[in-house]
Amino acid sequence: MTTAAPVKTQYEAIIGLETHCQLSTETKIFCNCSTEFGATPNQNVCPVCMGMPGVLPVLNQKVLEYAVKAGLALNCAIAPDSKFDRKQYFYPDLPKNYQISQYDLPIAEHGSLEIELTDADGNPIRKKIGITRLHMEEDAGKLVHAGSERLSGSTYSLVDYNRTGIPLIEIVSEPDIRSGVEAAEYAQEVRRIVRYLGVSDGNMQEGSLRCDVNISVRPVGQKEFGTKVEIKNMNSFNAIQRAIDYEIDRQIEAIESGERIIQETRLWEEGSQRTVSMRTKEGSSDYRYFPEPDLTPMQVPAEQLSKWKSELPELPAQKRHRYESELGLSAYDARVLTDDKSVSEYFEAAIAAKANPKQAANWVMGDISAYLNTAKLNIAEIALKPQILAELISLIEDGTISGKIAKEILPELLSKGGSAKELVESKGVKQISDKGELEKIINEVLAANPKELEQYRSGKTKLLGFFVGQVMKQTGGQADPKLTNQMMAQKLNS
Ligand SMILES: [Zn+2]
Repeated sequence: MTTAAPVKTQYEAIIGLETHCQLSTETKIFCNCSTEFGATPNQNVCPVCMGMPGVLPVLNQKVLEYAVKAGLALNCAIAPDSKFDRKQYFYPDLPKNYQISQYDLPIAEHGSLEIELTDADGNPIRKKIGITRLHMEEDAGKLVHAGSERLSGSTYSLVDYNRTGIPLIEIVSEPDIRSGVEAAEYAQEVRRIVRYLGVSDGNMQEGSLRCDVNISVRPVGQKEFGTKVEIKNMNSFNAIQRAIDYEIDRQIEAIESGERIIQETRLWEEGSQRTVSMRTKEGSSDYRYFPEPDLTPMQVPAEQLSKWKSELPELPAQKRHRYESELGLSAYDARVLTDDKSVSEYFEAAIAAKANPKQAANWVMGDISAYLNTAKLNIAEIALKPQILAELISLIEDGTISGKIAKEILPELLSKGGSAKELVESKGVKQISDKGELEKIINEVLAANPKELEQYRSGKTKLLGFFVGQVMKQTGGQADPKLTNQMMAQKLNS
């Protein structure tokens, strides 16, 4: 008799993400107003971003540059011709009653990015996620619901137009994602890429990176897509993952109990850890797109395009591959070290100063990263410069100090910097590698522990560790552990 597979495995989820990413330009997309975060409401506004009649928008060239660079980094084809369109909608957050966006001729299309996950055995699983398109658009204002009728008797809302006209890129993925964990990793890779490029700070708390998820489920083997639901309002990668996993279960349960999935927008509720219905979804035709008559179509000359291409940094996926193939690091180490660009730069500077890559990786991912977490510092801010780390590692490698001593002097180097070599000299913590000196200490240790010596000689050879430990104790950890081990074993067995 065969047992039926669990219901969940009989379905697959089809997921696509729309990621809005705020570009870190100093001024807005179509006017000279500042983009600073946290300004007094309606301080950074002008007739253009307030949508006054008769004004003319002018494209900020930095926005085009950043969008093209993001498109290139996402392996997209950059459109030789592109234009802006008006997306009509009526809501107080945009005083023009339309948003300037891009419809049928986006600046970039047909790209991909690689996500890397880990299987149960710790091996990397790599997957390519298609990028449908990337386009530029302006952000809308922010509604502040000021009063509650029950509390204050007022039921009005205020609008802050500081955010109106802040430049955004929207990155639309293909429906290649199959789970919450893949979606969260995709969103993180998008953030890594825009941060590496320096085109966005990718800060989710401040709304610089916002993801909407489209999700449907279908029986495994079925070709047609199920009815898709959109989820909004997730402000962390963790929330993206949990919202999707919740929604997959909800849709499967609904289908299994004979319900019909309706096309709608749902909100993720952090408090109750579930999605709730917000509104049924309007189709894209409702927006009545038409070409923006006040902005000329854009062209990116081939010369300009190759200049921007040449300015791209090495991207996270390229770095991960190189760390594995050239430096011999594990996929896990490569992923941790490249997650933050400044960490990878620190690591690479240590390698350039001739540090052993594996050793440098261990120090950066271990003690140094623990210190950064406690001190709440960025790696670029610490006093222990990469060259000093390289020096410290070489002192261990040439036997001047033990790894244990290195760990002990690390806190001082982390907070004060300076030369590792000089610190070792001044503290007098050099490793004892002199055979004569070691032999003297070994003899003392053996003489002081006759009982253990007796036990060892009658077969309890595990006590070797005990004797080596005694030597380390007596020398304050300065005895060369390898040599001590070797000499002690020889002495005990002679
Ligand atoms: Zn303005």
